[in-house]
Amino acid sequence: MSGTRAERAPDDLFLRIVAGEVPAEIVHADDLVVAFRDVNPQAPLHVLVIPRERYETVADLAAAAPATLARLVAVAQQIADAESGGEFRLVFNSGAGVGQSVFHVHGHVLGGRDFTWPPG
Ligand code: AMP
Repeated sequence: MSGTRAERAPDDLFLRIVAGEVPAEIVHADDLVVAFRDVNPQAPLHVLVIPRERYETVADLAAAAPATLARLVAVAQQIADAESGGEFRLVFNSGAGVGQSVFHVHGHVLGGRDFTWPPG
C-alpha cells in the first residue's frame, strides 16, 4: 500500500504520533504498542498506551488482537512500576458520550496521587 499511514488515515492523530509526524514525549515503544505522555495531564502520571494499529475501542482491540491488548496492559504496569509505585488507574473511554475524543483506542495510565470513586 502506498502513502504514509497518516495519508491513509488523516483523521487519526495517534497514528501520526506513531509515525513520528506529530511530536510526543514517548516513554515506551515496541512492536505492538507505543506509550506517550498525555498533553493535558490529569495526574502526576498520565501516559497513553496505544496499539500501533488502529482500532477504535478497547472491545474492538480485544476481539481483533488480544495479544496486543495484553501487551498494552503489561506496559501500563511497567510504567506504573517505574513512576507511581506500581499503582495505577487504567481508563479506556469507549464512546463520545463517556469522554472518548480520539477514536484510536488508548489506555489512560493514571497515577501518582489519590483518586476518588466514583469517577466523574
Ligand atoms: P479521550 O478523551 O479518552 O479520547 O483521550 C484523549 C486524550 O488524548 C486526552 O487526554 C488528550 O489530552 C490527549 N491528547 C490529545 N492530543 C494529544 C497529543 N497531541 N499528545 C498527547 N496527548 C494528546
